[in-house]
Amino acid sequence: MTDNYFKTFPNKEGFFESYGGAFIPPVLEEEMKKITDAYFAISKSHAFISELRSIRKHYQGRPTPVYYCNRLSEKYGGRIYLKREDLNHTGAHKLNHCMGEALLAKHMGKKKLIAETGAGQHGVALATAAAYFGLECEIHMGEVDIAKEHPNVVRMKILGATVVPVSHGLKTLKEAVDSAFEAYLKDPINSIYCIGSVVGPHPFPMIVRDFQRIIGIEAKEQFFDMTGELPDNVVACVGGGSNAMGIFSAFLDDKECTLYGVEPGGRSLAYGEHAATMTLGSPGVIHGFKCYMLKDENGEPGAVHSVASGLDYPGVGPEHSMLKDQERVTYDSVSDQETINAFYELSRLEGIIPALESAHAVAYAIKLAQKNPQSSILVNLSGRGDKDIDFIVDTYGLPSDNK
Ligand SMILES: *Cc1c(COP(=O)(O)O)cnc(C)c1O
Repeated sequence: MTDNYFKTFPNKEGFFESYGGAFIPPVLEEEMKKITDAYFAISKSHAFISELRSIRKHYQGRPTPVYYCNRLSEKYGGRIYLKREDLNHTGAHKLNHCMGEALLAKHMGKKKLIAETGAGQHGVALATAAAYFGLECEIHMGEVDIAKEHPNVVRMKILGATVVPVSHGLKTLKEAVDSAFEAYLKDPINSIYCIGSVVGPHPFPMIVRDFQRIIGIEAKEQFFDMTGELPDNVVACVGGGSNAMGIFSAFLDDKECTLYGVEPGGRSLAYGEHAATMTLGSPGVIHGFKCYMLKDENGEPGAVHSVASGLDYPGVGPEHSMLKDQERVTYDSVSDQETINAFYELSRLEGIIPALESAHAVAYAIKLAQKNPQSSILVNLSGRGDKDIDFIVDTYGLPSDNK
């Protein structure tokens, strides 16, 4: 049945019902078609599959574990489990699709990988993949994020990537995507755009989802091994939505599992203060695909904010947009402050410092646990928080120790 879902969505034109597609100039259309054809041919070959499996096991350190949070569950109720993508090589789930995209690039004879990055995690993951395969790598990044995510910028440079600062607009993720697309259009023959999430024109939302499905495949089996049942709730943060699609994809047919996508509620739900695209957006076209989107008064991609650089995008994956309309996944938001609290709670109760992105999912899991103390909750811990520590302590300080 699940197989049927993956054959149905997206359709040949890249649509997830009314979302997705490829709203792009003809020159890019041709390139996307080449990538799609290559993907369908190469990804089904034995050589590709066995190379990817070997990379996951010996290089990335997969399978990543599922961990039961003793002290967090004791304090807040529920039974909270983490899928530990923070333990994936480079410290986040993004390497799952980057190794896949780079392997595809290699099979297509490409020489250079181009991409955007927000928090720097996608840039680091792609620079890692480029180093592994001996490909060139060019990463576009907003100047605001460059300042905020300094360690990841240094990491990319150490790995041999070129980091291109983007200085227009809000100087964050959206502008970085614009800039990376422009660079790709200058040389689509030798380079390939490796998008950082389940967004962009077809075939990227499909390709990235497929490479991220490993999270859900592993987690479902591991959770069942540990508990003899399926989780009541599965929770993941949603920026573009790749880590969430990765884990949700294994549970779509299991109607007894409630799936929650958690968006950044930011400072408030006023315009420009958040990036709660699903909660407050409406359908529109951004970066060549249709999805729920936050808009300004002219209907253009709107201003967004999140304490987590990897979540402040005014669009969201087309598959999520469909799953919202189908009411298969519930989308909700948590605030910056709730996220910071969860960041410290997980650090101090479990000894796991989460990425600020992932801390959104932890914050929501805490709320679910308090409401439903009998239920089990599987959280996708998409990444580790080392990259965020200076920013958090400088901005929010350490929590008082009297709790
Ligand atoms: C980039 C990032 C995200 C957000 O991206 P999705 O595509 O929504 O998963 C979440 N968590 C971490 C750790 C990230 O680096």
